[in-house]
Amino acid sequence: MSAEIPTSQSEFPDSSTQASDPAQSVDGQSARVVQSGVAPEGRLVQFQLAAFADHLKRSGVRFLPAAGEPEVAVLADQFAKPTSPQAPSADPIEAATQASAATQAPNQPASTAPTTARPQQEAVQQETVQQETAQQETVQRKTLPALPAAGSALPEIGIAGSYTEPSMAAENRIEILHQLSGAVAACQRCSVLAKCRKHTVFGDGNPTPRFVFLGEAPGQDEDHAGLPFVGPAGQLLTKMIQACRLSREDVYLLNTIKCRPPQNRNPSATEIEQCSEYLQTQLNVLQPEYIVCLGLIAAQSLLNSELSVGKMRGRLHSYHSSKVLVTYHPAYLLRNTGAKKAAWDDLQLMLRDAGMM
Ligand code: SF4
Repeated sequence: MSAEIPTSQSEFPDSSTQASDPAQSVDGQSARVVQSGVAPEGRLVQFQLAAFADHLKRSGVRFLPAAGEPEVAVLADQFAKPTSPQAPSADPIEAATQASAATQAPNQPASTAPTTARPQQEAVQQETVQQETAQQETVQRKTLPALPAAGSALPEIGIAGSYTEPSMAAENRIEILHQLSGAVAACQRCSVLAKCRKHTVFGDGNPTPRFVFLGEAPGQDEDHAGLPFVGPAGQLLTKMIQACRLSREDVYLLNTIKCRPPQNRNPSATEIEQCSEYLQTQLNVLQPEYIVCLGLIAAQSLLNSELSVGKMRGRLHSYHSSKVLVTYHPAYLLRNTGAKKAAWDDLQLMLRDAGMM
């Protein structure tokens, strides 16, 4: 596996040459290994590594140190160990979170069976898990939402053109975001919101994210904590992120406006307009590969559209050089649990585009 990680700038796979088939989308070296008979799990890991390396390249990383033999051995061992099968939840996001946790779970605790019986038990267990994994992958592939065909009759929406700033190193991003956060904390542009708020909620997460999740406005819990998505809707968002095999630390979370509207009313058009400069600067600094718009306010404001969520979801849009996915806000999903499947379909569409599925 270590041989597939590029170790210099010249070895980074070029995303412009990527095709939809993982076997063809990685650099020539990986493609050769795939053709030489790597198991499906190995292909997935190779594809994810190539996508991750591409993200690092976009983030300004130009060199990756070669992995040491002992660390590679430990990782390889973890991939080889079976994980215990778990009864899938009826909730599609919960089930995906469980599946994600299972694939990332540490090694099983040591068995209490006699040591002479253990190798045989482990072999049977491994074979069962492999069969179940193959069955799940077959079902998953059949149920993956399809990307809309090129030339679709749906209207184009989004903001064209590249970001105005070049991609920055992580330390510069942290510095600029820190300064902007100070400006937001002192902001009085919306007199009503500035009077009502306990804290401004600037945003939080990885300064070099591949994925950004954009909400509407802080709620009561966020206003108290000064952090985005910390209430019940935030907990569901955390599960959605984990279902994508990511953690909150991998992504960046932010809102369209930075102050809580009284009684959680929708932000006014004027408030959105007055706060848009902060959001645009944040995105200009972060320049994620994907922006997930959670709910109507975020989607309409970012994409400058009046379409409903129903009309915007199910395909990818653009905001400068970022791809934009529109889906339901987790607060809406808490009230309408039947929409969770549609939200998970949306996330899978993005994951498939990102080479993570
Ligand atoms: S919502 Fe934005 S523009 Fe309005 S007061 Fe808060 S930080 Fe300032």
